[in-house]
Amino acid sequence: MSFLAKNDPEIYALFEQELERQSYNLEMIASENFASNAVIEAMGSILTNKYAEGYPSKRYYGGCEVVDKIENIAIDRAKKLFNCQYVNVQPNSGSQANQAVYQAILKPYDKILGMDLSHGGHLTHGAKVSSSGKNYQSFFYGVELNGRINYDKVREIAKIVRPQVIVCGASAYPREIDFKTFRSIADEVGAYLFADIAHIAGLVAAGEHQDPFPHAHIVTTTTHKTLRGPRGGIIMTNDEELSKKINSAIFPGIQGGPLEHVIAAKAVGFGENLKPEWKVYAKQVKTNAKILADVLSKDGFDVVSGGTDNHLILLSFLNKEFSGKDADHALENAGITVNKNTVPGENRSPFVTSGIRIGSAALTSRGMRDKEFTFIAQKIAEALNNINDTSIHAKIREEVKELSSKFIIYDRPTY
Ligand SMILES: *Cc1c(COP(=O)(O)O)cnc(C)c1O
Repeated sequence: MSFLAKNDPEIYALFEQELERQSYNLEMIASENFASNAVIEAMGSILTNKYAEGYPSKRYYGGCEVVDKIENIAIDRAKKLFNCQYVNVQPNSGSQANQAVYQAILKPYDKILGMDLSHGGHLTHGAKVSSSGKNYQSFFYGVELNGRINYDKVREIAKIVRPQVIVCGASAYPREIDFKTFRSIADEVGAYLFADIAHIAGLVAAGEHQDPFPHAHIVTTTTHKTLRGPRGGIIMTNDEELSKKINSAIFPGIQGGPLEHVIAAKAVGFGENLKPEWKVYAKQVKTNAKILADVLSKDGFDVVSGGTDNHLILLSFLNKEFSGKDADHALENAGITVNKNTVPGENRSPFVTSGIRIGSAALTSRGMRDKEFTFIAQKIAEALNNINDTSIHAKIREEVKELSSKFIIYDRPTY
């Protein structure tokens, strides 16, 4: 019997419920994935006991000789994976990684040019409710009605705004990001190029998406999305001076003692990303997203930008009677978890929206391939084509359960 089951049955029972939920629903939120048992084991370890403020061999506490080795392995593996020279593996999240980047390179009221949140950008790219939009002046570029970034327009905006930093990378953009063109724009206006590859890092690591290096001055990513490691962030650069500023911005700038247990789990995750199997996984993630796009567009759904180059698709319901919120609810009832999302030409509120975002990374980790994704796309279409028919949703839910029970992800969960 587990320690948790014995010491805290109340929490343990909820863990069991969550395992059930993760096992028998189809997880298609584009920012989620299933970390391996090894990653989870590293996260739930005795390393949580250790204080290690500072950096390897420059700590403010004694007894860091082992965690130093672990943090250095995490750094070395990330360097290899993303082909760069300096990595900070301490950010507790993607948002904190981004906050530290701004703190390292900007003064208060400097100008950020980022992708509009409602066009697929992230809160930390200058949104007014985020510290990135409160401490700095933020300006935005977006996508055209065809769902794509128009780089000529980004250049025009950059020339008018004259930002200190241009942020590229997105949370809901189904197309390849052209880092090289972004860099040429940044150079033209004398700005840093900061690439936030939180969503696509797993594809970049596999050579399945254009590399942000050598184009970006600074790159951040989360480690828990397509990269499939523990929840957290990292910051990378090839510039020694920038790396020093970034390190001070993380500690003592915005964080205290690093989560060495999570850093160990990051190292384990990067180890998985470096294996040849990772390339097979990343390819299949893209294939599976393409299948969703193909089947759903054949069924009459409007796939934003006409398809996908990565792990996600956006469906637009501007030409339908129902909203993103309605679609999200219908799919939830059918056992398929997605999220509502704004779409180009949006005419509803951000709480309602006219679209949904669907990702393939998590189910691909469960081993689902072409056949299963074709079936899932058909079920999504069936649920949406019968948006108000709860008995059809209930029927799909049973079919989904039958499929997911053939792809059990944690047969010996370590919680
Ligand atoms: C998810 C995401 C983040 C933030 O990551 P958290 O770990 O949730 O703070 C930052 N940038 C982009 C583009 C993201 O998609």
